[in-house]
Amino acid sequence: MVDLQGQYSKIKNVVDPSIQEVVDNAAFINGPKVHQFQKNLEDYLGVKHVIPCANGTDALQIAMMGLNLQPGDEVITADFTFAATVEVIAILKLTPVLVDVDPITFNIDINAIEKAITPKTKAIVPVHLFGLAADMDAIMDLAKKHNLYVIEDNAQGIGADYTHKDGTKTKTGAIGHVASTSFFPSKNLGCYGDGGAIFTNDDELAYTIRGIVNHGMYKRYHHDVVGVNSRLDSIQAAVLDAKLPHLDDYNKTRRNTARKYTEAFKNHPSIVTPTGKSTCDGICDTCDCHVFHQYTLQLQGVDRDALVAHLQEKNIPCGVYYPIPLHKQKAYEDERYNEDDFTVTNKLVKSVISLPMHTELDHEQIEFITSTVLNFINSNS
Ligand SMILES: *Cc1c(COP(=O)(O)O)cnc(C)c1O
Repeated sequence: MVDLQGQYSKIKNVVDPSIQEVVDNAAFINGPKVHQFQKNLEDYLGVKHVIPCANGTDALQIAMMGLNLQPGDEVITADFTFAATVEVIAILKLTPVLVDVDPITFNIDINAIEKAITPKTKAIVPVHLFGLAADMDAIMDLAKKHNLYVIEDNAQGIGADYTHKDGTKTKTGAIGHVASTSFFPSKNLGCYGDGGAIFTNDDELAYTIRGIVNHGMYKRYHHDVVGVNSRLDSIQAAVLDAKLPHLDDYNKTRRNTARKYTEAFKNHPSIVTPTGKSTCDGICDTCDCHVFHQYTLQLQGVDRDALVAHLQEKNIPCGVYYPIPLHKQKAYEDERYNEDDFTVTNKLVKSVISLPMHTELDHEQIEFITSTVLNFINSNS
């Protein structure tokens, strides 16, 4: 699904010296590279505070710890996402409340959020799924009305712009009260191991979180709160700092690939191509609302398993993100859930397929992928 070796070979000349510098200085933990990357990412995102940590799942958990959410507090998130989002809610003994998603954007459904709010609700976690910004204006309005925190899960959306109702733009992750991201190698900004970060514009929250990531220490060996040990190591920061200047180009390349895929598939009766907000197709360069962490089609009347097998036979990687709704996962089942409230997710899990999406796909490969998919669908439906 990704070609990290191809990408590395093009930036080796900047990545290698950046890593070597860390090794030469032996500043492996909290070294200058970590600080440098943190500052550069703050500038890029237009956010006041970036707090690096060990991975994207930790980032979510620490964000929730920083908000001082208490056992029993309800946290609303999307049913159609990676399990990390709901996992940390459960680990902290908060109550996850899963809600359905929008059939066009795959992002959390605003009406479903509103319906799920109770006096116990304390936070909403929108996920910018597959790289498309969730409807943040509507979510922030709801949060304000009901006095809730908004924690953006930006693991798949780094670099995406959200265009507000008034036309101004903000990077995803810089809009909610706090946000998390992951630098897992296959993410849009990936390191060569594990990494993550928390973002916030709130000075006090940033201070609290900087202590939490460091064993709850605000003064050496004084532990004021229960914390964790979650660090981005200096070598990973060196890789990320070398890659950050390329992020916009990488995302642009992903959008160009998405455009080619969509051109090949559009108007096909059995294929629904991914779209952005109602005003754009997600791949217009003036909008930048979609950074295509995944390029995900919905199939109609196509045997998905057979298509997956056919693509595998042709050595074309593909993925099904995600095959099971979170509310049907054993760990997160809850008798309060009603199947009628999850019609979109229940349908998506059966019909989605994600095609290869990375920065190194060339025209020939894209052509081979689209023609293989189309030939299969046209001769089997
Ligand atoms: C990847 C991902 C995470 C977790 O990130 P890790 O760094 O693997 O812990 C969380 N949420 C979403 C939506 C993700 O895609």
